[in-house]
Order: sequence, then structure tokens, then C-alpha cells
Amino acid sequence: MRRLFQFHGGVHLKEHKKDAMVQPVQIAHLPKQLVLPLQQHIGAPAEAIVAAGDKVLKGQLIARPGSNISAPVHASSSGTVIAIAEHPVSHPSHLDAPCIIIDTDGEDRWHTDRQPVDNYHELPPEKIREHIRDAGIVGMGGAGFPAHIKLNPADHVVDTLILNGAECEPYITCDEMLLRERALEVIVGLRIMRYALQAKRCIIGVENNKAAAFRALQEQVRNTGADFIEVIQVPTVYPTGGEKQLIRVLTGKEVPASGLPLNIGVVCHNVGTAYAVYRAIELGEPLVSRYVTVAGSVAHARNLEVLIGTPVIDLIEECGGNHNTLSRVILGGPMMGTALHNITAPVTKTTNCILVNSTVGDVPLPSRDNHAMPCIRCGDCAISCPIDLLPQQLYWYARAKDFDKVQDYHLFDCIECGCCDYVCPSQIPLVHYFRYAKTEIWTQQREKTQADIARERHEFREQRLERDKREKQERHKKKRAALKPAGSAANKEEETKKAAIQAAMDRARAKRESQQIEPKNTRDLTPEQQQKIDEADARRAKSNSSTVNARINGAMDKQDAQQDLFQDNNP
Ligand code: SF4
Ligand code: SF4
Repeated sequence: MRRLFQFHGGVHLKEHKKDAMVQPVQIAHLPKQLVLPLQQHIGAPAEAIVAAGDKVLKGQLIARPGSNISAPVHASSSGTVIAIAEHPVSHPSHLDAPCIIIDTDGEDRWHTDRQPVDNYHELPPEKIREHIRDAGIVGMGGAGFPAHIKLNPADHVVDTLILNGAECEPYITCDEMLLRERALEVIVGLRIMRYALQAKRCIIGVENNKAAAFRALQEQVRNTGADFIEVIQVPTVYPTGGEKQLIRVLTGKEVPASGLPLNIGVVCHNVGTAYAVYRAIELGEPLVSRYVTVAGSVAHARNLEVLIGTPVIDLIEECGGNHNTLSRVILGGPMMGTALHNITAPVTKTTNCILVNSTVGDVPLPSRDNHAMPCIRCGDCAISCPIDLLPQQLYWYARAKDFDKVQDYHLFDCIECGCCDYVCPSQIPLVHYFRYAKTEIWTQQREKTQADIARERHEFREQRLERDKREKQERHKKKRAALKPAGSAANKEEETKKAAIQAAMDRARAKRESQQIEPKNTRDLTPEQQQKIDEADARRAKSNSSTVNARINGAMDKQDAQQDLFQDNNP
């Protein structure tokens, strides 16, 4: 007998669950149009790989993951893509989002690429995670975190894999119906997930108000001989289905405030995720449908197996709801769900419940602002908080827009369970204030990040311009040097060399001139030779002398003639 633990706070709520469990799960009608948001998960949006006019088949990849933390999107049925455009979706911001819109052809024809894995335990765990990633599986309890990432233990040893079948919010019964009708498939999916994580043991936690589901699981665990799986009933207290609360109840361990269950050797997945893993590995089917509870003011509350992308209004009408009398529709439960602003928004991978006109009974619903009264400091909100926070302090500081203080009071540990809202005698919509404060802080952080990025870009640009300027100057310098301008270092060197050569040549010439060099053929002459030379010299001397005398006589004659001529002309 496993010992169970308690978490702080929590509340007991009226269940409102029976109506939707009268009938077995039925397959919802094929809608005329499917609207598939590119963002149905935590992380980057998927990127469309089809265009308007493309024919698609059921299960065909139509959008690939936008980053490592993302998930692909597949066509939920066969038909024609008519647009990739903004469309109303379920989001607290009430903003539209990009969606792939498909007109179905009524044939619901599967594509031919379905590839089941025959013996998954013969593949390495990372291959199993790849198959799960390619099937587009995300956390189906509402969080929408890509399942293949949560199934990667990284450097951790996983002691316990917990399957969350608590489903503690009022009205929602899709997980319970899944466990009743598909217990074997869920167990197979759990085994595959255990293999991917290499976890030592598994626990399936089911609230003790789900006797049929508990029995079905126990029977399948026995039949399959999976002695490493325990099926445990946990007390029906809201919010036992919260991940941290269920881990606390089943193991006694506390997940660190800013940590992950993996930090304490635990991983927790929803039962719907296990079923999707079974279909991906054993049948080769991507995630194209899920179980959805339609409850509240409809003639036939029930659970349906719904194609992802089916408009909410189609399902409400299928269950006998009248769109003319709708005043409020919530996706999810009354405690943590999101009010829809447009009922043409589609069912996504994380939609577990459509709650129609749910102003019933004792369940607090979003938007009670009109009835809010001043806080009387009773402290009931703090007593009920499963995280052991001080909601009234958070409220005061959120109202005062003191966003540093709300963080000091651990605003981001708040799981928005709504317990404080539920017990507040002043009917203060506390969770609204907490969501508002979170959104403001995220906006401020985003703006700061954008400003930081802009500043970094500006600084980088300045540095780049400065570097370009330096490089340009350097290039110019080199060019000038290449042109060898006067006075440059290279020229000076060359001129020095030339001067040295000239000086050497001058020295050599002076040396030659200073030396008495006699003609080599005038030495050791015979007397006859000497005589001939003397005779030649004498002739030359004589010749030179007569030439000079002739010149002198000529000049004198010329002078006399000029004198006579002058006297004749001047008697
Ligand atoms: S429960 Fe409501 S009234 Fe009481 S302390 Fe909290 S916020 Fe104030
Ligand atoms: S909504 Fe937040 S503050 Fe309120 S009870 Fe839940 S966890 Fe605590």
C-alpha cells in the first residue's frame, strides 16, 4: 500500500461530471471546414509548407516545427487548403492568429505514409522521441509542451514516470472516458514513454471518484504483466491534477520553485498524451484528433472524439446547443479555462472541454469583476492556495502596479488554479489581477529585451563603421606607398645606394688618373727604333711650328690690309 502525501490548501468543488458520461465516446461529425492554428503548443509557431489551392490528405504534414521547441501540424482530414490567414482562436488576448484553413472533401482519406514502429524497444530511445516529435504530439492536459522534449531525460536519471489521470476540474470527463474505454492503449503508450525516458517505474494517479477508470487500468496492468506500473487512487481535492500537486501526493517530493520535476527524478505526462503516443508508434498516426467534453447548457452533454481544427460552434450544435442563446463559452474547465470571444475558434491539441453558458451552481467563473467588494483581509485565499502563496498581498501589489513587489511575493509560482478566487468572500477576481501582472511584466521584459537588442545593434554598427574607416585608411596608405613618392623610405634607400656606387666610381677614376701609366710599347727600344721616334717627333714639332708662323703672318697681313683700307677711306 503506497503512502500518500498532502499538499497545502486546495478546495472541494461540486463535480458536475455525470451528465457527460452517460453515453460512450462518439466520433464527432466531419466538419465542412477545419481551422488549424500554427501555434497549438508552447514554443515557436509551426511554419506552413502548403499554400492555398493545395490538396491534402488526412495525416499529411502541412506545417513543420518552427524551432527545436515547437511541433508540426498535420491535416486532420482530406480536402483543399483554401487559405493561410488570421482566424479567431482561443487565447486570453482575444487576438486572431495565423491558421491553415481546409475545406474538407467528405472522404476523410488517410495519406499513404503511415509507418507504425514494429518493435519500438529495438530502436534507441532517441528514435522513439523522433517519431513522437514527427507525430506532432504535445502535452494534452492543457499545457501543450512538445512531448518529445519532456520525454528526453538529458543527463538526469528518471526514477518515476507519473501518468496524470486526476482530472480534477468540474465538468471535464474526457480523460476519465479515455481511461474507461482505452485503458489498454494508454498502458501501451505509457510503456513506450517509459522506454523513451528509461524510467525505473511508473505510477498512474487517478482521483478516487473515478472507480470505473481505476478498475479498467488495474485490469490492463494485470493482463499485460506490467509489474513496474502502479495504479493509485488519490483524494478528490482540487487541484490534485496540477503537476506539482500530483507529484507531491504520490511521491512526497516537492518540485523546486523555479525547477522542473526532472530535477527530482520525476516526469509527469497526461493520460491523453500516452494515448497519442500509442497511436503514433503502434499505428503510425500523427496527432489529428482528441477526446473533448462538451458540457453545460447543451441538450446532450457528452464526450466526442474530435478532429483537431473543428470549429467549436459545430460541436456545440452537434450536442444540442443553440448558438442563438449562447452567452458564454469557456474552453477548458470553469476554474482555469479561457473564455472564448468567437465561437468559430477551433478545437486545438490542448482543448479538453467546451463549457457552454456555465453559470451553474457554485463554481466561480472568470469575470466576476462586477460583483467584487473590498478585501476584508480574512486570509481565506492564503489558506486555500496550493502553492502556499499570499494571494491578498499579490492582489494589492498587482493593483498598485508594483511589479517588483509581486515578484518578491513569487507571482510566477502561481499556477492560476483559481482556489483563492473560489474562496474569496469579497468575490475579488484575484486570478485576473495575477494574469494582468504577469502579462505586464512579460511586456516590460520583452520591451527591455528589444531595447537591449536595438542598443547592441547600434553599438555593433558603430564598431563596424569605425573598423571600415580604419581599413580604408590602411588601404590608402598602402596604395600611396606603392606609388613610391619622393622622400619615402624606399626611395631614400635607393638614393643612398646610387650615391655609394657613384662615389666608388669616382674614387676608381681618381686613382686611375693619379697613376703614371706609360705606354707598354715604348720601353726597351732598340737604338734604331729610338732614332725613328726622335725623327718623327722632330718632324711633328717642325710641322707645328711652321703652321703657327703661317697663322701669325696671315693675321698680320690681314691687319695691314685693313689699316690701308681705312687710310684710303679717310684721307
Ligand atoms: S480571501 Fe479575498 S477578502 Fe479575504 S484576504 Fe483574500 S482577497 Fe481579501
Ligand atoms: S490562483 Fe495562484 S495565488 Fe490563487 S490559489 Fe492558485 S496558486 Fe495560489
